[in-house]
Amino acid sequence: MRAAAESRPVSLGVSTDVGRKVELDISRAWLVDPVEGREGAADIVVRGGILEAIMWLDGRDADGVDDRGVVVAPGFVDLHAHFREPGNEAAETIASGLSAAAHGGFTTVCLMPNTSPALDQPWLLAGLRAAVAASGSPVRALAFGAATAGRAGEQLASIGSLAEAGVIGFSDDGAPIRSAVLFRSALAYAGTFGLPVVDHPEDATLTDGAEANDGLIATVLGLKGWPGSAEASAVARDLAILADVVREVPGARLHLTHLSTEGSLELVRRAKADGLPVTCDVTPHHLALTDEWLAGARRFGWEALDADGRARDPWRDGAIVTRPYDSSLRVNPPLRSSVDAAACLAALRDGTADAIATDHAPHTEVDKDVEFGLAPNGISGIETALGLVLEAVDAGRLPLATAIAALTTGPARVLGSGAGAEPGLIEGQPANLVIFDRSDRWTVTGESLASRGKNSPLIGRDLPGRVMLTIAGGRLAFEA
Ligand SMILES: [Zn+2]
Repeated sequence: MRAAAESRPVSLGVSTDVGRKVELDISRAWLVDPVEGREGAADIVVRGGILEAIMWLDGRDADGVDDRGVVVAPGFVDLHAHFREPGNEAAETIASGLSAAAHGGFTTVCLMPNTSPALDQPWLLAGLRAAVAASGSPVRALAFGAATAGRAGEQLASIGSLAEAGVIGFSDDGAPIRSAVLFRSALAYAGTFGLPVVDHPEDATLTDGAEANDGLIATVLGLKGWPGSAEASAVARDLAILADVVREVPGARLHLTHLSTEGSLELVRRAKADGLPVTCDVTPHHLALTDEWLAGARRFGWEALDADGRARDPWRDGAIVTRPYDSSLRVNPPLRSSVDAAACLAALRDGTADAIATDHAPHTEVDKDVEFGLAPNGISGIETALGLVLEAVDAGRLPLATAIAALTTGPARVLGSGAGAEPGLIEGQPANLVIFDRSDRWTVTGESLASRGKNSPLIGRDLPGRVMLTIAGGRLAFEA
């Protein structure tokens, strides 16, 4: 364990290895409890993996403790991660993905079913669980089942038997459920089990061959435009069908993942106001990075807005600092404008977006080291999520408590009470905690990432909020 900075009088005493039950005394840390909606200075004691005591401090005891130093929060819940086992273990395995999750502060991950084969049968879920157990990681892995057989979009997957086997919802992520009638059936059938359908909203007829967000950057770079309307029109379709289905199946629930545009977030805002059972998430990369990065700019979205809230021109600003067409920036949906990134942050602040989900999508170097338009979509992001989110917090764009809630209680609420992902700082229960030093910056390098996927546009960059310790189910998951 690294010693905390002198000016931050925090002592940590840990004597464990990964998987071992944790003994821990944290004194004078900043505790964020999104369940109780409380944050402040506190002492925390863990004995034999059990959260034995939380003592909130006040008066002189709390002097000098603030949210800029060591922060303790419930372990994060990632609604959207791609570990590549089975099928592409060169890009990620269950074991390497769980290590990466723990390094990122996550104690629960929800795995997308777009493995090869797709997780569309209960025996594949059993295989996943065996791989999790064999990894020795205490991080909890939950799984979405495919919505359609083989994710082929032709007939429903075995939704009933998958639900009974314990999947937490259904998704064809990697792709949308293109057929409206199948999407409707999936919502209704999953809804009878009280499980959500997680749609990746994209009208693929509008994105055929698309490479970069439709706009100035794509035009100048000569990349084929990817219109925001491809997302908004899919969201509109999904919401219209949800409104129908929920009249017949009250348990039907829709979760829209990785929303990236002002327009689609506005549709969800209105649908929520109308009382529809819809939730959504945004990713760390969509709230912080923008399409300027494809041109070689490296400023955050909030630095690329003019006083009127419009996207600035990176060429006119002299903001281009590196070479263009970095294929680690190719992602689906694409990095959008700074206006859309600001809309993602606004959606988190007003509750339109329920969660921050990483869409962790590791790829091998061989697959990514090609022309921009030929590279597979995805960013290896589970280890840099906290750092990007804290950049937004440090820039005054997101309150720390809102950010922590979007990584803990928000995703747990999306999953519902049956999924077993509820974060809690409950005395007498096994501890699920992350401890990070908000002001301790670390450099993202290929070696520093536990993920096999080194496909991150943040390689070489410093991020705040180095994770010091992650405890899952009372057991040590990561220690710096
Ligand atoms: Zn997706």
